[in-house]
Amino acid sequence: MCARCGVPFASADQGGPAAICPGCQECPPVFRAARAALRYDEQARRLILPLKHADRVELAAILAPMMVRAGAVLLEKADLLVPVPLHRRRLFHRKYNQAAILALAIGRLAKLPVQPDALIRTRRTAPLEEKSPEERATEVAGSIAVRASRREAIAGRSVLLIDDVMTSGATGSACAAALLAAGATAVDVLLAARVPDPRLR
Ligand SMILES: [Zn+2]
Repeated sequence: MCARCGVPFASADQGGPAAICPGCQECPPVFRAARAALRYDEQARRLILPLKHADRVELAAILAPMMVRAGAVLLEKADLLVPVPLHRRRLFHRKYNQAAILALAIGRLAKLPVQPDALIRTRRTAPLEEKSPEERATEVAGSIAVRASRREAIAGRSVLLIDDVMTSGATGSACAAALLAAGATAVDVLLAARVPDPRLR
């Protein structure tokens, strides 16, 4: 996998001697490192989509221990867990933020504090599914901020950002930029699943 963003390689030589994927070489992420428990395939979708859309919050109890194993190195360096936020309108429709459910479960297992509402979406973003990496980065840039009342909790801390799925890393980078601007010393990302880069097949 890519040493930086954790994207899976099809063979060991794909990232070159430094094990860095083409995406990170072209546009290095704002976060320090990302790791995922699963490759986002049919099996992973069966665990993640019901957690996201069908109120199956108990699936977090299956995913969280897998994420703790995959992210052991990142958890060791973390002071605080923060989930990727949903826009409040999406939160209203879905009733809960699946990333926050995962962060709380991981926090309990790893005995780390969680700030479930540290980040906010300052504007609604269009769905990213059909967009290129460049379009995704433009769409989410500046759309995420640290809540004013949580800035003190972030300053001087090493933050581990939690989300369910990462595709291009654009959202992770936008969150990392907001956290670093609020004084976080470092930001890593831990995911339930990572979408493989189609160039690395
Ligand atoms: Zn990478």
